[in-house]
Amino acid sequence: MTHDTTPTQPATTPAPSAAAAPAPPGGPAASATAAGGAGTRLDPWFGSYAARAHGMRASEIRALFAVANRPEVVSLAGGMPFIEGLPLDVIGEAVQRLIATKGTTALQYGSGQGDEELRERILEIVALEGITDAHPDDVVVTTGSQQGLDLVTRIFVDPGDVVLAEAPSYVGALGVFRSYEAQVQHVPLDADGLVPEALERAIVQARSAGQRVKFLYTIPNYHNPAGVTLSLERRQRVLEICKRHGVLIIEDNPYGLLGFDREPLPALRAFDDEGVVYLGSFSKTFAPGYRVGWVIAPHAVREKLVLASESSILSPSNASQMAITTYLATCDWRGQIKAYREMYRERRDAMVGALSEHLPSASWNVPDGGFYVWVRLPDGLDARSMLPRAVTERVAYVPGTAFFYDGQGADHMRLSFCYPTPERIREGVRRLASVVNSEADL
Ligand code: PMP
Repeated sequence: MTHDTTPTQPATTPAPSAAAAPAPPGGPAASATAAGGAGTRLDPWFGSYAARAHGMRASEIRALFAVANRPEVVSLAGGMPFIEGLPLDVIGEAVQRLIATKGTTALQYGSGQGDEELRERILEIVALEGITDAHPDDVVVTTGSQQGLDLVTRIFVDPGDVVLAEAPSYVGALGVFRSYEAQVQHVPLDADGLVPEALERAIVQARSAGQRVKFLYTIPNYHNPAGVTLSLERRQRVLEICKRHGVLIIEDNPYGLLGFDREPLPALRAFDDEGVVYLGSFSKTFAPGYRVGWVIAPHAVREKLVLASESSILSPSNASQMAITTYLATCDWRGQIKAYREMYRERRDAMVGALSEHLPSASWNVPDGGFYVWVRLPDGLDARSMLPRAVTERVAYVPGTAFFYDGQGADHMRLSFCYPTPERIREGVRRLASVVNSEADL
């Protein structure tokens, strides 16, 4: 299960054991007074944490997800790509050759900005979404787009600053925003993606309340978790509104090439090289295990991102970057993306077909790409309180509350169709429907 699959905040730093720990500043008694909770008695460092660490906590459903990983449970919770669909033997041989021939570079430290050959290759990929004016120097390689999110937030957000994000939004981004003590304001979306009028209202309201709006965080394609795509017409309007109000756009696009029925729409960054920071990733179109993503940013922002990245990781992994460059150079990566699209389309069909058959009392979108179906439960049902029952019935999902900053979303759940086979998906939805239907009867 990837971090995406587990709706948690970033994990807290493990506390040193009480036996080994020296007395914390102010002493254990002082820390106990500061917090006054059970956690203080277990963690002698409680009084020493930065304010931002106090906001980091594991979700109460994390324990359930450990159970959901058992093989008898059909997990419709995870955002894991179906790695078994890759030609692992071919990739394995290429990696072996890479280490044998270029191991002294691959296993060495590298550039903070990332390997130049890979940055050139990344430009070929983003050209598929209309970004044709970028230079390799505009690209920063990151440890997955999750690190890109962290870096962007680190360089822009002070505690209390407003970040605008779709309602719902990606759980891992909300965790980053929370850890930098941002105030997230949700902007509604509908079947065509983010609603531009609501975006403008949110900017104006926040500003008139004296708040600093730092950026709009948006997932324009095959949204996680909502499954929707921002229409071409709305892309223009969102760009125009943000430009007029001086609001930076963070465009998070891990799924853009995974459309089932059509070629990708142009990225927001394709229309604006000054007002958009673009986050890309190899996680969904190739494999997340190498942990490689990228940011394309305006020049000055890019410089700050490189400095921020160097201060946290020195340099992204050379071995991972070179393995991906080798894959792109020697394997049919376009064919692989096509194969993924076909496979995920079949799984999407299995999921929406099973929902229609077994759960007609719910409603959902039919995504035309990506990994997720966003399901609205029949009135009165609460996806979070229903989850333990579902896990007992050997099916797991992510309750909608994980995707909001403010506790909304209990009437929704996110179902992923990326990892289980179509047959398992149908079985999972059958089990889920029996839980929902029996809860609805109570
Ligand atoms: N953004 C979105 C919308 C995602 O769904 C994910 C992963 N599920 C990420 C970013 C992070 O992906 P990675 O770090 O693997 O590139």
